[in-house]
Amino acid sequence: MAKIAVLERKCTGCGLCEKSCPFGAIGLSGGKAHLNEACRACGACAKACPSGAVIRLETRTESVDKSKWRGILVYSEISAGHLHPVSTELIGKALELAAPLGYEVNTVLVGDGAHAFAEELRHYGVSKIFVYDAPELAGFRADAYAACAEDAIRLTKPSVVLVGSTLVGRSLAPRLATRFHTGLTADCTQLELRPNSDLVQIRPAFGGNIMAQIITANTRPQFATVRYKVMDAPKRRQEASGEIICRPLPKGVYVSPIRLISSRALPARKSISDADVLVVGGRGLKKQADLEMIRTLAELLGGDWAVSRPLVEKGWAGNDRQIGLSGRTVRPRLIITCGVSGAIQFASCMNMSERIVAINTDPEAPIFSVAHIAVTADLYEVVPDLIQKLKEGTP
Ligand SMILES: Cc1cc2nc3c(=O)[nH]c(=O)nc-3n(C[C@H](O)[C@H](O)[C@H](O)COP(=O)(O)OP(=O)(O)OC[C@H]3O[C@@H](n4cnc5c(N)ncnc54)[C@H](O)[C@@H]3O)c2cc1C
Repeated sequence: MAKIAVLERKCTGCGLCEKSCPFGAIGLSGGKAHLNEACRACGACAKACPSGAVIRLETRTESVDKSKWRGILVYSEISAGHLHPVSTELIGKALELAAPLGYEVNTVLVGDGAHAFAEELRHYGVSKIFVYDAPELAGFRADAYAACAEDAIRLTKPSVVLVGSTLVGRSLAPRLATRFHTGLTADCTQLELRPNSDLVQIRPAFGGNIMAQIITANTRPQFATVRYKVMDAPKRRQEASGEIICRPLPKGVYVSPIRLISSRALPARKSISDADVLVVGGRGLKKQADLEMIRTLAELLGGDWAVSRPLVEKGWAGNDRQIGLSGRTVRPRLIITCGVSGAIQFASCMNMSERIVAINTDPEAPIFSVAHIAVTADLYEVVPDLIQKLKEGTP
């Protein structure tokens, strides 16, 4: 951690610090340099200061006693009246990570009517289910929900907190990490727990060109978010176990300045992440109208259609149909890619699919390295042919 300090007695008011700052975080007031909250402590002003009045201080991070933070807590999300499936996927992963260290896996449920979902969670092997259920929690309010999750974290002192990388999770996790002055890694694709309890949070970085391994070495808990469909969903157990603990609402919930005035459910639309079969169009398609054959093939196979990013950029499809790092992660039983090269930003978000069929004219296309069936051919011949065969019912 670093911070910038201004030694007023040395400041000559030359203004060079103001000119050097890329964030507009330092300026002159009363002839002296003053910082504002935009400061990122980058140190550009300290380098520019000729009189040594602006200095960058390194503060050594104090390490917490890691042995006092044990177990894994999963934030179970209720979304549109359902338990979001990412919750059980995370519980499954947490149980796998926790076993070698003998950790408990607990979960927290927040929302008006949350208690109704606690019983279901007892079938997934968690030890405790902390429930915050009250009319004050009707409708998602980030500060109120964060206050409840914070309460569960202070109570259980987990080493790791896992949150789904959903709209709600992306809003909650950074708030929680800030409250505990600790690290957060978003959109992890793999997680490993070292014997010293450091969580290795693996995720694509630098536009997907490297897989970064990130650890939170000095602080606890370690926060990570994971997208839906990245981890394996565990089997629901026949027997129920785990204790349901109903908690009173923490103070912060009542003082929230956010008031929910009204809410309206958007028409439910199936996400491409939920599809069992996907047909995907890439830049190999010559014009927008040709997407029609992708849609037709998807329909005949009882599935959904999706695209690579260039097609979203051309305005041919909405972002909700995009597979990839800046789109969605998918894991269908069957995926057929048509004219997609298989760039890492695309492939890393579909390569866990059960059966991958790739159609591409270029035998060297990277998509073939993840495909189970490689069709080196023109999509304009293969796709209409498949459509015709399916319509005729011929194999
Ligand atoms: C930070 C970052 C995030 C990104 N996020 C995403 C993301 O979320 N999703 C995503 O898709 N991309 C993403 N990208 C872009 C990515 O790098 C690629 O540019 C993109 O995936 C390429 O899309 P494509 O395969 O459709 O097109 P291309 O790479 O142009 O490939 C087209 C393919 O079609 C084949 N082809 C051409 N004509 C035919 C034909 N008639 N029949 C059969 N095959 C044919 C070609 O041989 C070629 O392999 C991201 C990039 C960055 C830097």
